[in-house]
Amino acid sequence: MITRRNFVKGVFATAGTFFFAGCSEAGNPGVGNSEWTPAYARLEEEGRLKDRVDEAYARLEKCTLCPHKCGVNRLDGEEGFCRAPGRAVVHSRSPHFGEELPLVGDNGSGTIFFSNCNLRCVFCQNWPIAHEGRGREVEDEELAEMMLDLQRRGCHNINLVTPTHVMPNILSATRIAMKNGLNLPLCYNTGGYELVENIELLDGIVDIYLPDLKFMGSDESAKYVLEGRGDYPEMAQDSIIEMNRQVGVLEKDERGVARRGVMVRHLVMPNRVAGTREFVDWVAENLPRDTYVNIMSQYRVEHMAFEYDKIARSINSREFVEAMDWAKEAGLTNLDERSMSQYRLHRRRMS
Ligand code: SF4
Repeated sequence: MITRRNFVKGVFATAGTFFFAGCSEAGNPGVGNSEWTPAYARLEEEGRLKDRVDEAYARLEKCTLCPHKCGVNRLDGEEGFCRAPGRAVVHSRSPHFGEELPLVGDNGSGTIFFSNCNLRCVFCQNWPIAHEGRGREVEDEELAEMMLDLQRRGCHNINLVTPTHVMPNILSATRIAMKNGLNLPLCYNTGGYELVENIELLDGIVDIYLPDLKFMGSDESAKYVLEGRGDYPEMAQDSIIEMNRQVGVLEKDERGVARRGVMVRHLVMPNRVAGTREFVDWVAENLPRDTYVNIMSQYRVEHMAFEYDKIARSINSREFVEAMDWAKEAGLTNLDERSMSQYRLHRRRMS
């Protein structure tokens, strides 16, 4: 059994002796030329980061890391809905060039794909990782080394994909990596099924939030998410409001690379299943109009989606164009560049 006390003791005994050659801030191409300090480094300087790590690990003992609130002791090997163990399970990590352009920059977004998921949508495109948990368990020290490796490779951020159920491991690893030179923004790339009190714990640690807002209707979220979570829209919306309170509208450096802020994703689904009109209206009413919004066109019929009539096909040009028209009508002014290109392409197809 990994007790919290043993874990924290072990991690920092080891961290004190860690050294990763070439990881110092000097010569790190990911952060550009101007002075920049990630949020977690400031929190450490104030002596408050360790307490956050401890608090996060305490939540693993009776797991309340997401709205499922399974209450299992994951440090003692018990599993909840997400089936995740106490350690992080990593499927892969690499510089990624398919993310939003402000995250990709010249050298890529330093992506770490975590296995398992607390949502498990029936149309999941990453189902072998998210549903089946393919990957390898790692200690927090190894996770820290992955972050530092991505920094050495010039990545502009640490992009934590599906982080909700491994948030304590991430915080612990970030502190270890920071002590050894990590100086990149954390990008919290979440499906959106979050509890506000866990997002609050990330205040002053995460610089970039990249949440999905997948559904606006509880009937749809209950139908297309395993275990029928009809509270998804409410949980995701409340969390995004808190994310915006913490980091606000996207800020970029002199190269156009993201440093801090919220970037909201929404996947257009066939037959208006995702509630895109309600989505853009919600953003316009609850967030600044210049919030970075990525309305995505790449819905594919994956995994179990074939079994559901309404989502057993791709979207068509009309569906994507109407989604973007709604976003403009709602007054959203900071729409993703690639989605704008797709918009123009689909409009040409329709004419
Ligand atoms: S993170 Fe996993 S175990 Fe914890 S509450 Fe959520 S689904 Fe349950």
